[in-house]
Amino acid sequence: MRLLFYAAKVYDKKSFDPVIENDPDVEIDYIEHELEPRTAALAAGYDAICAFVSADVGAKTLEILKENGVNIVLMRCAGYNNVDVEKAKELGITVKIVPGYSPEAVAELAMGLALAVNRRLYKAYNKVRENDYSLRGLRGVNFYQKTAGIVGTGRIGAAMCRICNGFGMKVIAYDMYHNPALADFVEYVELDELFARSDLISLHCPLLESTYHMINLENIKKMKDDVILVNTSRGALVDTDQLIEGIRLNKFLGVGLDVYEEETGNVYEDRSDEIMAHSVTARLLSFPNVMITSHQGFYTKEALEAIAETTIGNLRDAAEGKRSNNDVA
Ligand code: NAD
Repeated sequence: MRLLFYAAKVYDKKSFDPVIENDPDVEIDYIEHELEPRTAALAAGYDAICAFVSADVGAKTLEILKENGVNIVLMRCAGYNNVDVEKAKELGITVKIVPGYSPEAVAELAMGLALAVNRRLYKAYNKVRENDYSLRGLRGVNFYQKTAGIVGTGRIGAAMCRICNGFGMKVIAYDMYHNPALADFVEYVELDELFARSDLISLHCPLLESTYHMINLENIKKMKDDVILVNTSRGALVDTDQLIEGIRLNKFLGVGLDVYEEETGNVYEDRSDEIMAHSVTARLLSFPNVMITSHQGFYTKEALEAIAETTIGNLRDAAEGKRSNNDVA
């Protein structure tokens, strides 16, 4: 089986090569190009392609893959909002994802961002490096006995609930499905109640039509003053322009974002020499209470190993026509 691996980074090769080391049936070619309509034809002659969060796996890309004989799309991530699932089904292309490779990797980053914005760790680090030992601008709040509101209690949300519980927080959550594993310490409430009661709000639901821009000015106004908002799920859950308005209204003690609407052109690129003409991200970063990371929730040793194992397992399953819970098309 020949797999073309798009948008490959050095760390991808490091985690995937050991998994196929003793398998003469699987051959991977790694390329730096992102998967999009312009690059889809490069997959001619391959059995499968592997893509990540910033790929454009829309209708056009899928049509070109199909024309070139590719019938297997392996997403090496949990979210698949960038895949036109209906089109894939129509074309008979199998699409498999890696659900829940390491929920703790993402949840731990979510708590890391919450702590960092609360105690302004990014500022504190730079201040001390500059010989400035004053505490101005660094005051935070205790998380102990505060209320954490978790939106979406699937794999990652559940891990975040456990972390918040460990911090001695009261944990409330919103999800259409109540996770029985959390029954002992999580109180499920309606979304508006979660907005109204939470000191820390962390988003862990998928990006769907129904969740697009769920954090907008109307909902921000329902939140407590001095709330902390963390998004490690998908950027478009938050309406960035309205978030900026909310920040200007002084609603937030802190905002920590591992994902944001503008990220697609940025993710995993070094653009430090470029002048950004119209950057909402730059505007967000002008606020002292905002910290942004570049979609690194998945980036731990354990998560990368699990992603590689599952993706290659998905390839073998797809080649044998086996369906599993990892199939989305
Ligand atoms: P999951 O499928 O296990 O859980 C998602 C939960 O969201 C489910 O319980 C579902 O019922 C719930 N949900 C659906 N619609 C909802 C709504 N409108 N309101 C509230 N809850 C809703 O998924 P997961 O593995 O926990 O991943 C969650 C998201 O995290 C993924 O969709 C992905 O976008 C994101 N993610 C980010 C990174 C990163 O590196 N930052 C890594 C992996 C996943």
